Amino acid sequence: MQKKPLIVANWKMNLSKNEVDIYLQEMLKESKNLNATIVLSPSFTLLDFVNSKIKKTNIKLGAQNMFFADFGAFTGEVSASMLKDVGAEYVILGHSERRQYFLEMDTFINKKVLTALKYNLKPIICVGETLEEKENNESEEVVKLQILSALKNVGSEELKNIIIAYEPIWAIGTGKSATSEEAEQMAKHIEIMLQNEFNTQIKTSILYGGSVNENNIKEFVQKEHIAGALVGGASLSANTFLKLIK
Ligand code: PEP
Repeated sequence: MQKKPLIVANWKMNLSKNEVDIYLQEMLKESKNLNATIVLSPSFTLLDFVNSKIKKTNIKLGAQNMFFADFGAFTGEVSASMLKDVGAEYVILGHSERRQYFLEMDTFINKKVLTALKYNLKPIICVGETLEEKENNESEEVVKLQILSALKNVGSEELKNIIIAYEPIWAIGTGKSATSEEAEQMAKHIEIMLQNEFNTQIKTSILYGGSVNENNIKEFVQKEHIAGALVGGASLSANTFLKLIK
């Protein structure tokens, strides 16, 4: 059976309501004919708006972050139940920009993963090595530690509800992607490592992210262990994103 890739658009802190409106008009014309599961991840302020436009379609909604507490005095934060309220099914956690600019650590990300699962949100956990770690041949070890910390106290039966996005930091927004062979090798490493650590045959979906575009996407999604892609820059225009999905 031909694989149906999971393609997640991470719009980051981009796109106004008006721009998103136009984007969705273009996207929805094509959405029935796409052989991919598409997740759009707008800013918090536009989740509700995007949900109202896509809820009767096959496009899914994701958030770019959330906090781990159920509710309470956490000024500026957004909870899992708030994301559920506005129709989100996925949440990106531990993106390298959150780790870099907001000093999110693995222990913090782990709490978020546990809360997301409690609320039936599918966490998309981002992991990846720096250029220095890659040059020191530490990539597999770094990624393993990030994943095992993020999944502490997660039951093996939950692995099917989790998505791991392998995003080498040196490849994000740089125009310099990993090769599809490098990404496939890492995806295979992650898959085997999870099956061993959790003593299960359940397969976790593993995405590749980092300078994916309409020209290189095919190479990645054709690989056996790569379930799809997390796309930043190339998801910001409906036209470019549609070319990439097709
Ligand atoms: C990302 O930030 O998750 C990402 C993959 O960005 P880009 O596609 O722009 O490299």
